[in-house]
Amino acid sequence: MDTIINSQTLKYNSEITTQRINSLINSFENIFIHDEVKDSEVAKRVISHAPIEKIEIVSEEPFKSDKGEMSSRQYDRSKKNLFLTKFKGQFFKRCPGFSQKKAITCCNYHVLNLGLQCNMNCSYCYLQGYLNTPVLTLFTNIEDALAELKETGINHGSTPLRIGTGEVIDSLSLDPLFLYTPQLISFFKSYPNWILELKTKSNFVEQFINTPHSKNVIVSWSLNPQNIISQEEHGTASLRERLDAAHLCIQAGFPVAFHLDPLIYHDEWKENYKQLVNLITTEFSPQDVLNLTIGTLRFTPEQRHIMRERFGMKSLITQAEMFVSESGKLRYDSVVRNTMFQFVLDLFKTNNKLWNISLCMETPESWIATYEKMPSQISELKSFYKPIQVLK
Ligand code: SF4
Repeated sequence: MDTIINSQTLKYNSEITTQRINSLINSFENIFIHDEVKDSEVAKRVISHAPIEKIEIVSEEPFKSDKGEMSSRQYDRSKKNLFLTKFKGQFFKRCPGFSQKKAITCCNYHVLNLGLQCNMNCSYCYLQGYLNTPVLTLFTNIEDALAELKETGINHGSTPLRIGTGEVIDSLSLDPLFLYTPQLISFFKSYPNWILELKTKSNFVEQFINTPHSKNVIVSWSLNPQNIISQEEHGTASLRERLDAAHLCIQAGFPVAFHLDPLIYHDEWKENYKQLVNLITTEFSPQDVLNLTIGTLRFTPEQRHIMRERFGMKSLITQAEMFVSESGKLRYDSVVRNTMFQFVLDLFKTNNKLWNISLCMETPESWIATYEKMPSQISELKSFYKPIQVLK
């Protein structure tokens, strides 16, 4: 299906995008702009929307002396302060799963990091044990990121790469402000064998929905029952808003994917995940959803302390009984994990055998327990897990 563009949709989408820009600007206490980038497109757009008293032009990273392990107060502050700057390192990398390849099952994912930190606030977020940036940072030099991709394309333009932008920042939750997604989609149009995966818990799709594409941009949502979203995924779009955004993307011809990740154990987990799967299978067909991944709760032992400080003991995450797995992460007991995987998998497969489902960041033991096979032995998944060496 070709993208449908008409002037009414464009006007509606631009009004929504403006409302979202204003609401995003309001969510920040301060906006710091490095003086090197104050004339960049992104900085100019932010300056044109933000009240002057929020903006400070700086010559170095704000709160620089706070580097290192952050306290819960510093971490909270990092989400409320935006910093626009130039990135001088390598944008394009392999997924971190690759470096732990022995302990988890890696799917050849690559990442393009255009910023650091997320403006939403999930209690289980792995960034709490990973990031030490004192401010939410957005790199203004997207042209350098695209140049890196272009360089990779010289030798690997026809290699089937999967590239995601949602590793250390949500792919879309700030996009109305920065408008990177339309640029990425246009770039990927010239590389139809590559897949760009936009992973989000927001419903911000209007800013790119009319961009012509090569059907190689997958928009994916992490989904949970609404009770988990309300209790653990603060500041994110509701389940209804995420599903509505997915419908919009499908109408515009973008493939979508869903991540039921992390599955969170709680008293009514069976009932709530059953309702979630019912909602998905009622509203979508296996042809609409390119793939579904399932993952259970996991986090590093180091982040437990900050999660308790930030979310207290009422959170299902801080209360959870977790065990150290082979990869060093804390996970539910393997019986609980496999029961949850099997339950959700059975619901989908009973509905329709054509649902394409895999386990995300999981141990080989979970694959065997759930599928009786490794991913490389499952015909629908083989291509995802075939090793590809692009970056050294
Ligand atoms: S949306 Fe993703 S990156 Fe943002 S806080 Fe939640 S888990 Fe973390």
